[in-house]
This record gives sequence, C-alpha cells and structure tokens, in this order.
Amino acid sequence: MSDSSSAQSISRAVVLGAGTMGNGIAQVCAQAGMQVVLFDINEQAVAAGMANIERMLSKAVEKGKASLDETKAALALISTSTDLAASCADAQLVVEAIPEKLELKQSVMAQIEDAVNNDCLIASNTSSLSISKIASSMCCPQRFIGMHFFNPVPLMALLEVVVGEQTSEANIELAVELSKRLGKEPIVVQDAPGFASSRLGVCIGLEAMRMVEAGVASAADIDKAMELGYRHPMGPLRLTDLVGLDVRLGIAEYLCEKLGDRFAPPQLLRDMVAEGKLGKKSGEGFYKW
Ligand code: NAD
Repeated sequence: MSDSSSAQSISRAVVLGAGTMGNGIAQVCAQAGMQVVLFDINEQAVAAGMANIERMLSKAVEKGKASLDETKAALALISTSTDLAASCADAQLVVEAIPEKLELKQSVMAQIEDAVNNDCLIASNTSSLSISKIASSMCCPQRFIGMHFFNPVPLMALLEVVVGEQTSEANIELAVELSKRLGKEPIVVQDAPGFASSRLGVCIGLEAMRMVEAGVASAADIDKAMELGYRHPMGPLRLTDLVGLDVRLGIAEYLCEKLGDRFAPPQLLRDMVAEGKLGKKSGEGFYKW
C-alpha cells in the first residue's frame, strides 16, 4: 500500500481506546466512509465513547456542518468491541489511542501484530512517546507510524505524521494520504521529542509562565499579546489551562530531559500543580473557570 488510491481503498479500521481521542478518531474514520470498530478494554468507556460520537454528530447537524443522513450513515459504520483479536482480524488500519505509557503501548503492539494481516497499517496517536521505541519489539516496524491527532479530533485540522526510524517510505505516503482523506492537514515530522507541535507549543507556554513569574504582565495580557499581536487563536496560558497544568508539567519534564534546560519547568508551574490548580478541569489555573 503506498499512494492515494491505497488510502482510498482502506475500508476497515479499528481504533483502540474509546477515550477522549479514540472516539473522535473513530468518528472521523466513519465520516470518511470506513467501517470502524471502536475497541476498549472497558465496556463503560466504549459506551461513553459512542455517546460522545453521537453528541458530536448532532452538534455537527445543528451547526449545518453535516446533514442528518450523513451523520446517520457515519454512525451506522461504527461498531464497538472488547475483543481485540476479533476486532483486528480483517483490519486494514489500526490506530491506537490508549494511555500514554510506553510499556503498555509496546505490549499492545505485540497483541495487534499477532491479530492483523500483513498489509495492515498500524498507527499510534501518542502525543510524546518515541515512535521508534514503541516499535522496538515489533516484528514489522516498517508499517508502524505516528498519526498524532489533536483534541477535539473532529474539529482540529492538524495531523502530525510521525516517522519512526524504520517506517517505510510507502507507509509515510499512505499515512499522509489517509490524513487528507480524514479531512486533516498532515505535516510530516521525524521522531524527535515533542515532534513539531508540542515542542513549539510548550516552549511558548513555559516562557509565558516565566513572564507571569517575573511580573512582566498579567496572564490575560500575555495571552492577549499572542492573540492580537500574533494572531494565535488562543493565548498560551489559557491553552495551558485547557490542556491541564499537570499534563504540561509532564511534557516539560520529558522535553527537559531530552532537549535540555530550556524546557525546565518554571517553579510557578510546579507550585500550581502542587496546589491542585490544574486549569479548567480543577476550576482554577491561570484563570478561574
Ligand atoms: P483517555 O484516558 O481519555 O482514553 C484512553 C482509553 O484507553 C480509556 O478509555 C481506557 O479504558 C482505554 N484503554 C486502556 N488500556 C487499553 C488497552 N490495553 N486497550 C484498549 N484500550 C485501553 O486518553 P486520551 O486522552 O484519549 O489519550 C490517548 C492517547 O492519545 C495518548 O497516547 C495521548 O497521549 C494521546 N493524545 C491525547 C490528546 C488529548 O488532548 N487528550 C491529544 C493528542 C494525543
């Protein structure tokens, strides 16, 4: 499989993990006309994932972004499962969106490889882990690639295609074409820490926090500087509140270890996380929610 015609020929996809990202990925695959199995080890997660897809699709109808018939057709293409081997047996594409833990992803890769056919493309939605490391014990790392979607998946245009050390050229091309078929704008990024998006986004966010720490301006005014001066749709501190300060701290620590002190988490970030000010999810971060 290697070109746009192969991307078009993918009609059976499996998404592993029905959480925040997985249900969105399943939705966009179905809207692109694929039959999708939404798999999770947890039945409640599968039910919640399906409920979210239904909610997102009705919102799309309300906003005139999709017709009722289109959304009904998409829903009819999605089935759910808690049986991995059965789900993957005839899959042409598997996308994993399970928790961000290296050992977990590595062990699930082994299970997927046992279950799928040789020509199945296997993708990870990891936001920070090394694609080459996840693939390190795979028999066929050539067919493994990062497809990093953004949250909320149905609404966000960017998709980072992350190339592992052993990913084949044909599969890079396939993932790029597939991303376009899913309505996304792909960028191709090497398997470097933080890929392109997190590395730059976190860098700006950490500097903004250092500016709050140093009393340069208020959080709201620093955000406004980026929104009005640089046309960012949302300032870096408000965005940090949405992502979660604890999540940002984890990524900063990882990037600091891999790329050096310029990613060292500011003390303010550590203090706020320790105080439970995690952003929107806890009711307070740089803003009150
Ligand atoms: P989540 O916690 O919302 O969902 C994870 C789901 O995986 C849960 O439903 C859980 O039951 C399920 N799960 C756990 N072990 C499993 C297994 N062995 N097999 C199948 N399902 C399993 O997580 P999320 O936020 O959707 O993140 C998933 C992945 O996407 C992570 O790698 C994360 O880094 C990445 N990501 C997240 C975001 C985001 O904004 N949340 C953005 C981009 C990428």
